[in-house]
Parts: sequence; C-alpha cells; structure tokens
Amino acid sequence: MTNQNKEIPYKIFLNENEMPKQWYNVRADMKTKPAPLLNPNTLKPMTAKELSVVFCDELVAQELNNDTAYLDIPHEILNFYKMYRPSPLVRAYCLEKKLDTPAKIYYKFEGNNTSGSHKLNSAIAQAYYAKNQGLKGVTTETGAGQWGTALSMACAYLGLDCKVFMVKCSYEQKPFRREVMRTYGASVTPSPSNLTKIGQKILSDHPDTTGSLGCAISEAVEVAVGSEGYRYVLGSVLNQVLLHQSIIGLETKAALDKYNIQPDMIIGCAGGGSNLGGLISPFMGEKLRGEKDYRFIAVEPASCPSLTRGKFVYDFCDTGMVTPLAKMYTLGSNFIPSANHAGGLRYHGMNSVLSQLYHDGYMEAKSVEQTSVFEAAEMFAKVEGILPAPESSHAIRVAIDEALKCKENGEEKTIVFGLTGTGYFDMFAYERYNNGEMTDYIPTEADLAVGFAGIPKFYGNEI
Ligand SMILES: *Cc1c(COP(=O)(O)O)cnc(C)c1O
Repeated sequence: MTNQNKEIPYKIFLNENEMPKQWYNVRADMKTKPAPLLNPNTLKPMTAKELSVVFCDELVAQELNNDTAYLDIPHEILNFYKMYRPSPLVRAYCLEKKLDTPAKIYYKFEGNNTSGSHKLNSAIAQAYYAKNQGLKGVTTETGAGQWGTALSMACAYLGLDCKVFMVKCSYEQKPFRREVMRTYGASVTPSPSNLTKIGQKILSDHPDTTGSLGCAISEAVEVAVGSEGYRYVLGSVLNQVLLHQSIIGLETKAALDKYNIQPDMIIGCAGGGSNLGGLISPFMGEKLRGEKDYRFIAVEPASCPSLTRGKFVYDFCDTGMVTPLAKMYTLGSNFIPSANHAGGLRYHGMNSVLSQLYHDGYMEAKSVEQTSVFEAAEMFAKVEGILPAPESSHAIRVAIDEALKCKENGEEKTIVFGLTGTGYFDMFAYERYNNGEMTDYIPTEADLAVGFAGIPKFYGNEI
C-alpha cells in the first residue's frame, strides 16, 4: 500500500511505537572521520582517561566512538522523551500561501517544552549518565539561558544537583530565565564569581566585566574538577551532543517516510552545530552511503561566520583556553561578535563532525544578516503563529529565500527546516527590532584577523 496520494496533515506525529529507540551516530558512515580532540599540552589525542576527569565515563565513550552507527537509548531517557516528544513536523501551509510558492515547506518544531528548545534532548541524556555513574551533580555554563534551563529540568527529574554559571550580563538581562532554573532547583551564579580562582582573578583584573561564555566555562570546569562527585557538561559543540540530537532527524525521517515525502533540501541554524547535526544526521548517512542525495544548508549569522569565513584548524573550544583542542571551522577562541549582535549563535567554532562534512563538500553554508533574520521571524510569527527564537529564525530566513527561488523558477521543491525554539525570553532583541534600532555589522578582514591571531600555533596547524 502506498501513501503517495494521502493528503498531508498540518502536523505529522508519530505514535509511541514509531518513535526511534536508538540514536544514530553519523561518524560511523563517514569515510574521513572527524579529527580527534588533542591535549593542548602534549598535542596528542585525548585519551578516555584524561577526558573522564572532566566528563562522565559513558559520555566519554560516546565522544570517542567513531564506529558504532546505532546506540540504544536507555529506557529512562525514552520515558523522559515521551513527556514532550515526538515533536511535531509541521507542514507550513500558511507560510507557503503567504509566499505564493510552489515549494512545499516543513519544519520540525523543538520549542514545545518548558526549556523552549531542543537542548533538553541532550540535557536528559547527560544528566542520566551522570546519575548512573553515581555522581552527586553536574556543573555547566549558560549564556542565553536555554541550556541551563534544559539541564535544570533534567537534573530535577533525576534528583541530581545542578550548578549553573550564567554569564553576568545575561543573568541581569534575563531574570525570568534565571528564575525558571531556580524553580527547577539549580543554583545559578553570575559569572565571573568569587566562588572560583579563575573568577576571582578575572574580577580583580576587570572589576566591571559583564562576563563571557569562555569565563563561565572556565569556572564550571574548575568547580567540577575540584568537587568530589561532580562532572562538567556542555550543551553543544561536542560529538556526544550531536549524537543525542539525532533524535530530531530520526523522528523527522520517520514522519516523512510515513507519507513518502522526499525532501530536496534540509536547512538548520548553526551555533555549535548540535541541532543542525542532529536534524541532518540520518539523511546525511544516506548521502554518505550513496543511497540518496540531499542539499544540506547550515545558516549562521553574518556577524559570527565560522563556517563561511573561518579557518579549518585546531583551536580551543572556550575563550579561557582550558578545554582540549578541536579541529573545526573557527574564528579563533577570543573572537567576540560585535556588541550590536542580538540574534544568538555567537559561538566562535563549529562541531568537528559538521566541520569535516562541510570541508568535504557534503554540506553548504550561508550567512545572513540579523535585520533580515528578524524580518523572517516576524513574517513567520504572523502566519504560522509561533514566535520563533532569534537563533531558529536564521533557518526560517533561508527557507523563505529558497521557497522564493522556487517561485521564480517554477520549481516544486520540498524544503525541511529546523525550528529549534521559541523566543519568549528574547524580547530585548525583538524590542530593538520593533523600535527600528537593529543594525547589521559584518566583521572586516581586520576584525577577523584579531581572532585568527589567537589560534594556537604548532606544526601542521597553520592558518
Ligand atoms: C542553543 C540554541 C541554538 C544553537 O545551538 P546548536 O548547538 O548550534 O544547535 C539554536 N537554537 C536555539 C533555540 C538554541 O537554544
């Protein structure tokens, strides 16, 4: 029996039996594997033993596993997923009508949980493995706050302590995010703080600093390494996070397969790369195995263009230079996007799996300017009803642009994009847009050179 002529509903759901029971590890199908993490002192690949000082054992194993295609999702995590998954795959009929395009547009909406984004998919997995190892708690940093919120929820569910270092300016600007985390029982400390040596040092050198993600990472790692029964967890960038986020792509594929829908292109926003990597993984697997072909498009802000203008080299994952070195597209770990940038996705690097795939020509990347991103967000909110996160709106922008190209060329292409979250806590950014105060800044070559100068120099790592 074929579903070819079935009318496509507004929302395609999966029932419990159709839900994925395993994560998919795209590294297993890559001919050129992502380069290993390096110890910055020895420049040798990080061993499991070295990594296990900072990360939980099972997560270290996942981080280093380049060969196993499918990994069982533990029952406890499947049960947690059932509370808010499957996330809907929505046919954007109203957006298609508004654009008057022959293109068929679908989006996978990950904002249907209290944390408001896809980050919960990995937060529950990371908290579960920490709990399973008998740990007392985890530490992390949060910038915009989505990751800290997701981790607080996951830790509350499992009865694990959660210490969040929140970049100070965000702590002050987003009091409601902070209170959601505290409601779930997390301790939230504005960073830099007096609780750590690195925090004390930064405060004495720069008493008026409003903090940075790099500093918050350094504080969270210091507390994890110095506290019995604690480990550090990270919400993006790492390969293990991409693995957990493959749930997004697996559900998307199952839903599309139910109606024999064959996408032509799959689009996602890219900060550290976890949602995009998770969304495209099963489709990329088909492409890597030579079974099918798709266009994959990563969308990043023009003000933080790691894929489109960065270097493919080894670099630190944080500004504090305490993490291992990862081979990735990077703007340099001390690159900070200009102050007028409001739209999220401000990470200087990119997950190393996606970096390798991009380098090998399996994926495209586009950069977009923030005013055009907010225009897309506004149009989407009006016709589809969801107020999108600024990050997600990067994908909306390019999906709309591609749909308009289809209109021009009379092509009936099928476009799938990832709608990673809602924008309720991003009203400062929307306010600037609504007041006509939003501006675009594209870094000059000289601006980028400052970041590139901070890339570690060693034989074979020339920029
Ligand atoms: C964190 C976040 C992103 C970017 O992170 P990736 O790891 O690149 O997916 C995008 N959208 C939302 C809503 C987020 O919270």
